[in-house]
Amino acid sequence: MELPPEAPAELPIETPLEVPMPPPEGQGRAGTVPQTQAQPRDATAAAKPGRASGPAPTPSPTPAAPTSRSQPMSAPATEPVAGQAAKPLSQPVPEPTPPAQDSPGAQTPGAASPASMPPPPLPAEPGIGSVPPAGIEGLSAVPEPVSEMLPEPTLAPELEPAAESLPEVLPAPAPEPEPRPAPPPAPHRPSLFIVHITPEMAPVAKVGGLADVVFGLTRELAIRGNHVEIVLPKYDNLRYDHIFELHEVYRDLWVPWYEGAIHCTVFFGFVHGRKCFFIEPHSRDNFFNRGAVYGYQDDVLRFAFFSRAAMEFLWKAGKHPDIIHCHDWQTALVPVLLYEMFQGLGMTHPRACLTIHNFAHQGVTGVELLRATGLHRPEYFLDYHRLRDNRYVNAINLLKGGIVYSNFVTTVSPRYAFETKDQGQGFGLEPTLHTHHMKYGGVVNGIDYDVWNPEVDRLIPTHYGVDSIDGKYANKRALRQRLMLADNEKPIVAFIGRLDPQKGLELLRHAIFYSLEHGTQFVLLGSSPDPRINNDFWGLKHMLNDSPDCHLEIGFDEELSHLIYAGADIMLVPSRFEPCGLTQLISLRYGTIPVVRAVGGLADTVFDKDYSTRPLHERNGYTFQDYDQTGLESALGRAIACYFHHPDHFRELMKNAMRTDYSWNHPGEDYLNIYDYIRDK
Ligand code: ADP
Repeated sequence: MELPPEAPAELPIETPLEVPMPPPEGQGRAGTVPQTQAQPRDATAAAKPGRASGPAPTPSPTPAAPTSRSQPMSAPATEPVAGQAAKPLSQPVPEPTPPAQDSPGAQTPGAASPASMPPPPLPAEPGIGSVPPAGIEGLSAVPEPVSEMLPEPTLAPELEPAAESLPEVLPAPAPEPEPRPAPPPAPHRPSLFIVHITPEMAPVAKVGGLADVVFGLTRELAIRGNHVEIVLPKYDNLRYDHIFELHEVYRDLWVPWYEGAIHCTVFFGFVHGRKCFFIEPHSRDNFFNRGAVYGYQDDVLRFAFFSRAAMEFLWKAGKHPDIIHCHDWQTALVPVLLYEMFQGLGMTHPRACLTIHNFAHQGVTGVELLRATGLHRPEYFLDYHRLRDNRYVNAINLLKGGIVYSNFVTTVSPRYAFETKDQGQGFGLEPTLHTHHMKYGGVVNGIDYDVWNPEVDRLIPTHYGVDSIDGKYANKRALRQRLMLADNEKPIVAFIGRLDPQKGLELLRHAIFYSLEHGTQFVLLGSSPDPRINNDFWGLKHMLNDSPDCHLEIGFDEELSHLIYAGADIMLVPSRFEPCGLTQLISLRYGTIPVVRAVGGLADTVFDKDYSTRPLHERNGYTFQDYDQTGLESALGRAIACYFHHPDHFRELMKNAMRTDYSWNHPGEDYLNIYDYIRDK
């Protein structure tokens, strides 16, 4: 079938060029990243809490489901190695600033940097803007010899400096997701040794989308024949039930810290096949034994320590990866340490890639941190072209440091790359992004189709696919039963996400009432570390407690989220800003129609059924521009009307959504192109 007549005919689509320019409708997956041949991927692929009163759900006929559907630089620290509505409710480097050669590496206490250290090589500016994508693609990927210069310490097998670029055959780890057909080998791409240093990885340490990205990307990279390792803090609240064969591999890792050193132990374990190292410090600072990943006054210090410890570990373990990939401000100090400290120690091989998942958090702190980490030299680092914060002249900014010192910086969608650099969304880092635009680009995140796939999802009662879409309605019934919602013919509008101002909380609140007034049910799953926000939503929950069509679940519940993705009809994402967004990508896979504000990655991945210039079969949701109630209603109203009045159109939209490929296939290729590019610099 065709979409409604109001839908414009196919219009020409502009092709996004490069990062700085936002694609007309987020077409470019990687604005700045080389588009090479992506491998085709066939992803075969309780009682309602708090409800005072409410009719028990009466089984009734299945609701009328819609029928028919882009471098830098050294010195040391060799310390001791050592939810019946109709109930109106009141609404309520610089050119990668070459570190001055006259500044000796880290000749400071606690960071023994050999005075004789040769000056660190300046990072060669990748300059992706100056090199057409094909330029990157065309770079010959010549395997480089790896670390041969240092004596290798005697280590546990996992620590052996792995024939760096050779994929290592390891004993099959425990429960690995269903195997899927491996993509054909990428043409002539040598395998790389890639280390991700990250504060989060799903499911063992998940706070937000960053965790999912690391989980999905690392697997994709490994599937493509690369040797991938991940370094994480050993939090006390890790999901140990997802770590297999956890054991100690490096007992005495001494990490220089202030004038002394902190004794750490490193553990190794498999997380669904991924090779992970967990660093556990033994100190009264108790950095990672606090019951939560973030939310402490000394967060900057905690993750600066982790960054230093991770680098110290790589160094002491004799690992010389081709690529060190770090994430967000928490590990943005890694490239700084690499070029200002460890390169001077001989760690000259690795190239650094930084992915910024959100510019709202940057790790701004005092110069004291320089002393803690052994970088010292405030007069050197407190320079506008290095770590000095763009707003506070006496503060250092870790995220800025990561941008200046990395060989390539990515963010999680081309549109967000544009917004952060040119639309005032960079939280003060716009000038820095301009200076380094040649090595800055956007790659839309993927989602792991082994986890987020209604055909195999173990957390939903009924599997379904694009050719068996009616199975979705069994999940809708299950969702209603679980949340004690009335079984009727209404569509379910849902929201899943952090209750953060970024997510558009005013519009979310308005949408709940608007949806209920327009004959839908509404389900919310979300939480906030901010007690005031949580209390607001608890108040709302109590206000709507008697409604048989509304359920607000305040908390984090991964399992419930799967059932909501599978059971809901419409997913609302009304963000103020959204670097990429995973909820809309997951929703698309589950045939749950996204209604989103067209910003950041949302604009790059959701194409309006009525107004998009995309071909009809690529349109997969509803979008709105203005961050106000009118904007929201313009999109949500159309989605609800389509469900009720054009069920065949709605069903076709669901199929379009499910067919969209947002696996890690394309992003995996994009990141490998970036790695290849910076590796040869
Ligand atoms: P962000 O990274 O800004 O939090 P994303 O949309 O990128 O937002 O990723 C959010 C991820 O976290 C998605 O996988 C979503 O399903 C999950 N999520 C968010 N809040 C919750 C919650 N309360 N319970 C379960 N999963 C959640």
